[in-house]
Amino acid sequence: MGIQIRTNEAKESSIPGVFACGDVARVPHSVSLAVGDGAWAGAQLHRSLVWPES
Ligand SMILES: Cc1cc2nc3c(=O)[nH]c(=O)nc-3n(C[C@H](O)[C@H](O)[C@H](O)COP(=O)(O)OP(=O)(O)OC[C@H]3O[C@@H](n4cnc5c(N)ncnc54)[C@H](O)[C@@H]3O)c2cc1C
Repeated sequence: MGIQIRTNEAKESSIPGVFACGDVARVPHSVSLAVGDGAWAGAQLHRSLVWPES
């Protein structure tokens, strides 16, 4: 499965401001799950920049 980065439900890693998605941050490996993961991580990254305290 390769290297796996542990993330929280917002796809943020243990390093604040660093997000991970797709194969590197989930199993099973699948195109559709990776695409959804990317959309979710992008939305959460945006949220963290606009509302850093939430
Ligand atoms: C042989 C095979 C068959 C598969 N068949 C299917 C299937 O039929 N259906 C299905 O849903 N899924 C299938 N998968 C799984 C699917 O390919 C993956 O789940 C999906 O591609 C994950 O997308 P990703 O964007 O997370 O990662 P990737 O598609 O692996 O993209 C990661 C990208 O990051 C780049 N990269 C890596 N390190 C660095 C770096 N240091 N700097 C810059 N860029 C970097 C890589 O070159 C790569 O382009 C298959 C996988 C394999 C290996």
